[in-house]
Amino acid sequence: MDLYEYQGKELFRRFGIPVSEGRLATTPEEARAAAEELGGPIVVKAQVLTGGRGKAGGVKLANGPDEAEARAREILGLDIRGHVVRRVWLEQASEIAKEYYLSLTFDRGEKRALFMFTTEGGVEIEEVAARNPDALIRLHVDPLEGFQPWQARRLIYGAGVDDPSEQKQISAIVARLYDCFVGCDGMLCEINPLIVTPTGEVKALDSKFTVDDNALYRHQDIADMRDAAGADPQETLAREKGVTYVKLDGEVGVLGNGAGLVMSTLDVIALAGGRPANFCDLGGGGSAEGVVDALEVIESDPQVRSILFNIFGGITRGDEVARGILAALERMTIEHPIVVRLDGTNAEEGRRLLQEAAPPNLHVEPTMLDAARRAVELAAA
Ligand code: GDP
Ligand code: MN
Repeated sequence: MDLYEYQGKELFRRFGIPVSEGRLATTPEEARAAAEELGGPIVVKAQVLTGGRGKAGGVKLANGPDEAEARAREILGLDIRGHVVRRVWLEQASEIAKEYYLSLTFDRGEKRALFMFTTEGGVEIEEVAARNPDALIRLHVDPLEGFQPWQARRLIYGAGVDDPSEQKQISAIVARLYDCFVGCDGMLCEINPLIVTPTGEVKALDSKFTVDDNALYRHQDIADMRDAAGADPQETLAREKGVTYVKLDGEVGVLGNGAGLVMSTLDVIALAGGRPANFCDLGGGGSAEGVVDALEVIESDPQVRSILFNIFGGITRGDEVARGILAALERMTIEHPIVVRLDGTNAEEGRRLLQEAAPPNLHVEPTMLDAARRAVELAAA
């Protein structure tokens, strides 16, 4: 689960990482009130789950409440790479002398957390890694040993920070970021930029924070930060219905039993020249309930043009799934053509049931490739 900047900063604050005082606003009037409370120069920042807001016009400075209201009016409703701004975060503007970069991510390859630090912050880190790889200091943390203070020194000296006061402050921030990452079950904590003010104060000016979904059960407070409005509407519906679903950007809706089979269905659709609209795993069983729920989620995606059912009967029998599909079609109207491929246990009987009932717009195909071709053809029609 990805957190908004202001949510990540709230977690930073709890773990003692310095951040600026701020307020959230959803209207220009609220922004004005927030600026009045905060006082002084303000920065107005779009809260969207994507980076590069600064370049896209989503971060603006304001001198007092009037300007804060005007800037909020400009930023609210802005579309930043497909993310519409519904909320802005206002904070006391900082003066910036230097921009550094600090992050901690989970490196799956090494099975360890990875610190990255550079004094060349403020820009995309991929840019620094490509242009000046030596400037980016990388350091893994052994999960059994945990974080050791020498690791902060390695990062700081490696990157060439020579001011003693900065060294001291950054050491503390590095240690706290590790505590925050572990304490929140983070997958990614990125501070870009980590700034030094003209008076030598170091603080986090931005936050990018991802928490492990599988650990949310033990962080109710973080789970509550999830915002239905910001999330994808199909994925939200799927979560509510308990359907295993991931939204993709194609036109062929996909439904199968078993994650492996669904993954290969996505490949076969691509092979047939189409694009899958989603990943959806029915899991075991093919009850009408499960099929209805999954079809509702898939149909709610306006991009879907056809639907491909790919079922391999094992413990789940083909005739059961066929009955599930027929029962589902009796209960709901599906606008788009459905292609079914049934194989495995009782597949013949399943296909016979479908052919006998012959609901309009339902096509039965013998193989996965035939079914994918048909679904792609129908999506293009
Ligand atoms: P991002 O573009 O989505 O990464 O958003 P950031 O929060 O990193 O802000 C982008 C840029 O806006 C930063 O790199 C700063 O240069 C600038 N910025 C953000 N907050 C302030 C602030 O309080 N004062 C000043 N002077 N600039 C800021
Ligand atoms: Mn940033």
